[in-house]
Amino acid sequence: MKYAIVSNEKIEATKGAKGVCPSCGSELVAKCGKVKVNHWSHKGSRNCDSWWENETEWHRSWKDNFSKEWQEVVHFDESGEKHIADVKTPSAWVLEFQHSVISPEERQTRNSFYGHIVWVVDGTRRTTDKKQFQKILEDGVRIRSKIPIIRTNFPDDCRLLKEWHGSSLVFFDFGKGKSSEHSILWFLLPKTASSSAYLSPFSRSNFIEIFKKDKFGEIFKNKILPIHAAIVDSERRQQKANAQHRITALSGFDRHAKTKRSRHRRL
Ligand SMILES: [Zn+2]
Repeated sequence: MKYAIVSNEKIEATKGAKGVCPSCGSELVAKCGKVKVNHWSHKGSRNCDSWWENETEWHRSWKDNFSKEWQEVVHFDESGEKHIADVKTPSAWVLEFQHSVISPEERQTRNSFYGHIVWVVDGTRRTTDKKQFQKILEDGVRIRSKIPIIRTNFPDDCRLLKEWHGSSLVFFDFGKGKSSEHSILWFLLPKTASSSAYLSPFSRSNFIEIFKKDKFGEIFKNKILPIHAAIVDSERRQQKANAQHRITALSGFDRHAKTKRSRHRRL
């Protein structure tokens, strides 16, 4: 963990320091080596939070964008279950920075536990992911919408999409967590009734700004949901048109078959 509690304050790990876990209250020791990022560790045992993931530079560079008070916040549900959210805003939106693989079941559990959650997924962990993702974008179709959105009909051709499609709100980060002026994240829109996936580029700095101002709830309600609804609607219309086309084609076939039969009778 990045923070321990020392004299009622959130403190970062420094060599030889001791602190207390903000979640379970047990003693933490500072680990400041050369391999891993400086962190706090539970004395002689695993992290008290089974959802906790060992942190990389990537996690830290993301967390560092937000105020100390918003980082590593212990979140309780109604049953009293608690977990440490990577970032939690005052309006209770949680950001989870996910580097390693997570099972769909665990993801779903976390989605329901936190309620309002946005996943930022490290797209650079496996070397093949970026290539597969680029191919998906190249082969995808730009749909008619106010913002750039690319539709792919074959999300399963990309491992990242296969793993994350249908997981609510997901942003892929291929930039190693570092900000450059033009760096973007790729937003995977919530799943629709079809098997297609929809992706939209999202400026990283804009993403950070929105969260810093705690405005993601508004963006979700006023932008993401209407866009999603428009896509769902357009898919439905397309499906209806396809069905109509099939009926017309079938009845044409039927007429053709009848003519054939009557010709046959005449013989
Ligand atoms: Zn603990």
